Formats: sequence, C-alpha cells, structure tokens
Amino acid sequence: MEIPTRYNPKITEKRWYDFWLERKYFHSEPRPDMKPYTIVIPPPNITGYLHMGHALNNILQDILIRLKRMQGYNALWLPGTDHGGIATQNVVEKELLSQGLTRQKLGREKFLEKMWEWRREVGDTILEQLKRLGCSCDWERTRFTMDTVCERAVLEAFVYFYRKGLIYRGEYIVNWCPRCQTALSDIEVEHEEVRGKLWYIKYPLQTQTEVCGYLSKRSDEIGATTFVVVATTRPETMLGDTAIAIHPKDKRYKELIGSEVILPIMDRPIPIVADEFVDSAFGSGAVKVTPAHDPDDFKIAQRHNLPSVKVINEQGRMSEASGKYQGMDRFECRRELVEELKEKGYLEKIEDYNYSIGHCYRCQTILEPLVSEQWYLKTGKMAKRAIGVAKQKRVRFIPESWAKPYLDWLEDLHDWCISRQIWWGHRIPVWYCQKGCPAIAAIERPEKCPGCGSNNLIQDPDVLDTWFSSALWPFSTFGWPKGEGRVSNKSKSEKVIDDLDYYYPTSVLVTGHEILYLWVARMVMMGVTLMDDIPFSDVFIHGIVRDVKGRKMSKSIGNVIDPLETIEKYGTDALRFAMACGGVMGRDVQLSEENFMAGRNFANKIWNASRLVLMNLEGSNLNSVTIESVRERFTLADRWILDQYNWAIEEVTIAFEGYDISKAARLLYEFIWSKFCDWYLELAKMRLYGEEASEREAAQFVLVYVLEGTLKLLHPIMPFITEEIWHLLNRISPAGRKESIMIASWPLPRREERDEEAVEKMELVIDVISQVRNVRSIMRIPHDKMVEVLIKPSGKAHKTLLEEHIPYIKNLAKSGEVTVDMKLKKPQECATSVVGDIEVYVPLKGMIDISQEVERLSKEIEKIELELDRINNKLKNKNFLTKAPPQVVEKVKKQKEEYEITIDKLRKNLKLVKE
Ligand SMILES: [Zn+2]
Ligand SMILES: [Zn+2]
Repeated sequence: MEIPTRYNPKITEKRWYDFWLERKYFHSEPRPDMKPYTIVIPPPNITGYLHMGHALNNILQDILIRLKRMQGYNALWLPGTDHGGIATQNVVEKELLSQGLTRQKLGREKFLEKMWEWRREVGDTILEQLKRLGCSCDWERTRFTMDTVCERAVLEAFVYFYRKGLIYRGEYIVNWCPRCQTALSDIEVEHEEVRGKLWYIKYPLQTQTEVCGYLSKRSDEIGATTFVVVATTRPETMLGDTAIAIHPKDKRYKELIGSEVILPIMDRPIPIVADEFVDSAFGSGAVKVTPAHDPDDFKIAQRHNLPSVKVINEQGRMSEASGKYQGMDRFECRRELVEELKEKGYLEKIEDYNYSIGHCYRCQTILEPLVSEQWYLKTGKMAKRAIGVAKQKRVRFIPESWAKPYLDWLEDLHDWCISRQIWWGHRIPVWYCQKGCPAIAAIERPEKCPGCGSNNLIQDPDVLDTWFSSALWPFSTFGWPKGEGRVSNKSKSEKVIDDLDYYYPTSVLVTGHEILYLWVARMVMMGVTLMDDIPFSDVFIHGIVRDVKGRKMSKSIGNVIDPLETIEKYGTDALRFAMACGGVMGRDVQLSEENFMAGRNFANKIWNASRLVLMNLEGSNLNSVTIESVRERFTLADRWILDQYNWAIEEVTIAFEGYDISKAARLLYEFIWSKFCDWYLELAKMRLYGEEASEREAAQFVLVYVLEGTLKLLHPIMPFITEEIWHLLNRISPAGRKESIMIASWPLPRREERDEEAVEKMELVIDVISQVRNVRSIMRIPHDKMVEVLIKPSGKAHKTLLEEHIPYIKNLAKSGEVTVDMKLKKPQECATSVVGDIEVYVPLKGMIDISQEVERLSKEIEKIELELDRINNKLKNKNFLTKAPPQVVEKVKKQKEEYEITIDKLRKNLKLVKE
C-alpha cells in the first residue's frame, strides 16, 4: 500500500469534513433509548470574523461533543448566530454612509430591507469559518436570533412578562450613546480613565447671609458679594442645574441650607439642599445638581422633588433649554461656556483631574447620561432564583471561582433596561391607540383597539436589547414555547418526541468570562423563570487568548494571529492541539508560532509512527487474532505498553470529563510521543523485522491494538489525522472497525491489562538504557560508534532481568557488547552511572579524548562562573533593584537560575568523565 511520507492536512481536512457531513454524523434527533448530551453554541454576531477567541471557544466545545458522541450519548451541538443589534446596525450604517445614504433618509422599512440583505450576503461567514476548525455542529439545526422560531420566543417572553407586570415603562436616567442613538445597559458601558479638568464655578448667593470663610468673597465685576463655589468635570451641564447640594453635617455650609443661589449665565434662582450623598471632601464640598444628566443627581432630585432640565439632547447637542447655546455640540459648548464664565468672573480656578468616564462599548463614543423614557424588566425575583440554583450547585461553575462574581452581580442587580432606540432587532410588541386608551402588548399586531375599536394603532418604535433574545437561546432554539418550533417528525415510533423536552436542560455552556453577566446570568434567570428549570448544569469558563508576552491580541499592537492563516500553514489539528494544550483551567491561553509548530510536529510524529505500523502489516491477517490468542507470546515490552495504554485511557478520560482539556492533551502527547513511539515502537521493530512469523504477528497485533485505541483517545482533539489513519487501518485490517473513527466507541480501560510487575521491570531496563544514552550524548560519542556496556547488578533478580533484555539494550543504546555480571570490576577510563543499586559502566577508551573533554568542560564551567558572579553582583546592587523596571529585574533573576542549572549539569558531567 502507498502511504505518503508526509501528512498533508490540506487534502485530508476537506475530504473528511465532507465525508462526515455526507454521512450526517453531526445530526441528532431525539431518541428515547439514548441519553442526550447537548451544547448550544454561544452565538457569534453575524458581523463576526473568526478570531483566536472564537477558535478556542469552539474547539473546546467540539472536543467535548466528540468525546460524548463516542461515549455513546446522543450528542447535539446546536449552532447559530446572533443579530448583534447595535454592532450590526453600525456596520451597515457605515456602508450606507459611503454611498451617501443614512438610515433616516431611507426610512425604517427600507433600512431593514438593507439589513436583511446584508445578513443574507455575509451573515453566515463566521459559521462557514467554524467548519474549517472541524466543528461537528448539527448544521441542519442552525438558528438565528431573529429567525421566526427565535423571534416567536422573544415576543412570547415579552408579552408574558408584560402581563405579569414585570415589564414597565418609565422615565429614568440612562447611559446614552449620541453616536449609536440608543440607551445602553450599565454593563455595556466601558469605563476609561481620562485626564480631565475640574472647573470651580462661583454661584452668587441670592440673599446675603453671614459670610463664612469657605465662600468666595471677591465681589469684583458682578457686584455680588458672596458666592458658593462648586466643582465640576462637565461645566456645560450647569445650564441644567436645578440645585446645589451639601452634606447636612458640613459645618461650612450649614447656615446656607434653604437659601438660594443664582445660576450664572441662565440667571435663574436655584435652592441649596442638604443630602447625605454629598461627599464633603470632593472639590469645595458643595456640588451642583443636574438631574437630567447625572445618575446620582437624578436620585438627589427625586429625594428633594427638584425639577429636571434637559440641556443636552439625544444627538449630543445643546437643547433649547440651554438658552443661547442651543444647537451647539456638547464639547464645543463646554469650551465657549468656560470662556464666558471666565470673562464674567464666575470661574474661580481650574485644576487637573483624572477621572473615569463611560464610553460606548460598540463605538467608543463618550456617553451622555440622559433622562429618557425606557422599558424595564423587573429582575428581583428572577435574580433570587438564579442565585438559588447556583448556591445549590444545580448550576456548577468550572472553575469554581466564577461562582462568586456571578452571585455578587445577581445580588446587586437593578432592573434591566431592555429597550434600545435602534431599528435592527426585535421591535417591542406594544401598540398605542391614538385615542389615549391603555397600551396593548401582543404577539401579533392587534386589528383594533380593545378599548375603543379604533384601528389607528401605532407600534412602539424601540427594539429590545440584543441580550434579551440571547438570554432565551438555550430554549428558544428548541422551539419554545412548544409546538411552534422544529419538532422532530422522523421518529420511528408513533409518539413524536419534542426537541425541547428531550434536549433541555442542556449539558454544558462553554464560554469566556467576559459575558458572565451579559449572558450567562441572564440565561439562568430566563431559564428558571420561563422553563422552570436551569438552562445548563455546567458552565465551563475558559480564559482568553493572549500573545506569548501575555498581551491581549489587538490590531493596534499588531500581535493578532489569524486562525485561518494558522490552519493554512500548520493544519487544523495543529491549531486544535495548541489550543487544547494551552487551555489550562482557570488561566488565559498564551499562543505563539511555536505552539502551532509543536502541534504540527506532533501530527508528523503520529503520522510517521502509524505509517511504520501500517507498512509492516502487509501480508498479515489480524482479523482472527484476539488479545487472548497472542497473550502467551507477549514480551515485557508488550505487557508494559498495554499497562501504560490502559492507564492512559483512565487518566485521559478523567481529565476530559473534568474539563481539564490541557491535561488530557499533555497525557496523550507524553504517551504517544515517548512511550509508544520512542520506546515501544523501537523495541517492536526487532520483531517486525525478525524471522519469527508468530512473533511478528504478536507485535503487529499489539501495535494495531494500541494505535487504534490511542487514535480514538486523540480524536476529540485532532479529528482529521486520526480519521485519515483510521481509514488506512481499515483498508489493511478492517476487523470489526466502524467506518469512521468519530462514531467509534470510546475505549474503556481493561483492569486485567494492568501489570505492575511489567512496569517495574520495564522501567528499570529503560533507566539503564537512558543512562547509556546519556553518557553517549554528554561525551559526544559519534552516532555510528557502538559502545560497550558493562552492568553490575546487586541481586540475582535484576541480573536475570537485564540478561534477558540485553537485546533491548543493544538496540536502543547502540551497544555492541553488553555484559551483565555481579562481580564486575570498574574498568579504567570509563563513565559510571547508577540506577538504584545497579552500576552501569561505559568504557570511553577509543571513543573520545578524555583529557580534551576534561579541558573543554572545565573551560565552560569557568566561563559560566564568571557570568554568574556578574549577575550576583547586579542583584546585590540596591540601585539596580530599585531603579530598573520590574520586568528587567525578573529577567536577570531568571537568567541566574538558568546559569545555575547549566553549571550544575556541567559539574556533574565533569565528575563523570574524571571518574
Ligand atoms: Zn455607540
Ligand atoms: Zn383606543
């Protein structure tokens, strides 16, 4: 059989992905005789383009789903996309702008047509890209948050909450993005530290009272004699001030409570109120109150019944209430207003001031707190239940440390602002009668007003927060509420099993921590409320992908690694292996080219080993051979590898099931690379190439047996190469093998193959061989030179063992003559090493020039000693320690450690030569 010498992922990946699709292996239907294992994908936005974060998230899901499928579960991984409200609307608006169009010019209906057109053209890009990762999603079940099935669920949920009185409309202060023209919820606000200013503005007192020291007394141009000074970071909002507030216990201002000041520029009297909220230590201790533009001021105003004056509008421009500044941009107004205040003598001073300011998480525009009319969802009861299920561990976090932030957030939860002033999304299903009858919430547009019969009904213009629909994802995708969705109709029995009944609750949610609040907590709240059951029992939270220096991948740093390019270069399996290895529980994944190279090298190693096995199966007939029929021909190496293989099954399965994907990957790497390839395969060669047919058959059997099972263990991580080799195996020896590895059953450990005695013996032989190899490498003995090996065991058992396995030593340590003798005397000029109480001598005469080697090693040691001295002095230098950047100090310390290890090694080697 022709087997290419190199593994070519480009050919195999396409071939096997198409094969899997064609055979419908990814598809799942409810089956009463099987246990479901369900994952719903965190739906990427339709604007998404595959990045390493997606790659990590989806590779982990695919690993779990492939594992469970092989373990005999009815595994379903449901894919789909999110309409991504603001984000998507922004993208399309930008495109329109380049054609000189705006959504306002187009009007709502035309604009939405454009949105849908865009979604049809590019909205599935990300899903196509997931296929390149090997994702085994059930594509027949692909959902979209705005398709008819999911939309129906959204409307149902809204109307349900509305009728229960849990949804209400109210005037509240919201985080408003003047760019996106919509309100944002608190968690959609990104706080960023900025270098700003603090302007101290003087408000003249209306009635002159007793002058106290903290009030400004310069009367100058304005003619007033006394001022109250307030400090603000946003002077333009003063135009909407309706009070000044002070702390009731602030002695400086106590006398002023109840009096009034004149609001400069606007020339309007406003009261001085006392409120506990005021921080006396900030600025002058007196603060201006602008209820329409500050959430804290909004609350103060509610407590003191103050009016609210909106001076900045939704476009971020000054409103008509701002007098002559009307129409001006808010920041332009700030500049001009400060000038005017300065001119008129109202500006006391300006200080530099750093503070945190809210930005839109979609477009980075500085947000404007605004009073506006919004829809709210009461979350109190839901949050309590979501807390309950986590405390009872019905919803379990992996790693466990994520339970705390989840609980903290829910315990401090405010009502959720669910309305957005954009057009792309689920429009709020509420209609208003033009005659002033009560509003109507309904799933479909009512024909006429139930109050007065009028058909002049206007729908609320707002749409729902995108996260409202994603919160329903674990059940909306299965057709909640019942009967409306994709109900299975191909079941063999008469009884139709409902998807929702069968697949819900799902098994695990795999996600990054950045959407713990935005998404995870809300899914739990919605699940326990609308389904009366948790949406998933496990929440597996993985880290984020960073570069090798630990930095986030970002275009501005230029450290982005493109997963598709990586696949082109190294193959999908290499990328998947790198991700699996890197995904250490509770830590971020640091990636560099080296990780992918390691993945590719691993694939090549597996390929070469499998090729060797396959090439040596020609002419064999293993179909009738069983483990029992060859057992009596087992060698020590056979017994050892079978023990280790069964141990690997146990450990790898435990690691996978405990979500410790990284450990599973490392165990497999270690088992395959060193145990199977480097030791067992090398030893098996003797019998494969030997004369004895029955010995050859035993070796062939064990090789195929272990290789086959190992491929299965590796399949969830590296699906393509394992499938390719599986098919090659099937062509040569098809004994009862499934037509694809992805539907083969997961290996179970066989207790009877565990063999402690064989392990102990084999490890001893391996240690002896390793010592000889070690000597060869330290002494730089050329590869083609055979060494002599003299072994002095201390007891009879070891003597017999080593004598029996002289061929192992000869083969793997490249030794010509091997002598095992309890009475050996140490020969002259030889390297000595010790394995337990066994001494191993390798005569060096004629192999190397000993005196030259001693000289070389001594020189090397001297050189490094000097370096170490230099570094030690540096680390003693206080000046260096305090002034150098910490990462430089760290680097020097690390180098010191490295030198110490090297010098230790060299000294040992020198000792070895000298003995
Ligand atoms: Zn924005
Ligand atoms: Zn009416």
